[in-house]
Amino acid sequence: INFESISLNPSILRALKELGYETPTAIQAAAIPEAILGKDILATAQTGTGKTAAFALPILHRLGENRSYDIRAPRALILTPTRELALQIDNNIRLYARYLRLRTGVIMGGVPAHPQIKMLRRNPDILVATPGRLIDLFDQGFIGLDQIQTFVLDEADRMLDMGFIDDIRRIESLQPRDHQTLLFSATLSPEIEALASRMLREPVRIEV
Ligand code: AMP
Repeated sequence: INFESISLNPSILRALKELGYETPTAIQAAAIPEAILGKDILATAQTGTGKTAAFALPILHRLGENRSYDIRAPRALILTPTRELALQIDNNIRLYARYLRLRTGVIMGGVPAHPQIKMLRRNPDILVATPGRLIDLFDQGFIGLDQIQTFVLDEADRMLDMGFIDDIRRIESLQPRDHQTLLFSATLSPEIEALASRMLREPVRIEV
């Protein structure tokens, strides 16, 4: 299997070729074809398996095929536990999206909010966020979540360990009812299973 046979947007394939990505990793081969069809996914995968591209490429494919000039709110949201991960995910997405006309932005705590508020005024298509600051800026009226089509929970087990469960459930409740959810976790604890059964519709289960 190669990336061409998944029939991703040609602009994405071009970027992957330049980055030297030749074959999808196991998680990518399993997740990307299902995610581009709009299915929910429950994936167990560690860091280093290529999980970032497994959720990022389907988002870029779906948004890139359906350019929107009048929706002025983000259409994809990736929640991740830490600033470092948020910046890393955003960096990767920028590389994959270099031939697409899509904007991404990072929302994270521990740094001043003003530059993030300015970024939000430029209408990013994709937000990568840590939960606390996202809620904070939402409550101040700077972010709309009513156009989200794809919601990613990255390292969901770590987010639960850090006490983000209420924030995650609130963030989910603010999105349209029919959004797609992609849940990635290193472990499948009872807490993760409970979250999954609450938030995912007939998920495709993937373990690598
Ligand atoms: P991740 O598990 O998402 O943190 O990715 C681990 C590393 O593998 C990152 O440096 C990626 O750039 C790289 N990577 C992801 N997918 C592929 C692929 N299909 N081919 C080559 N490298 C990849």
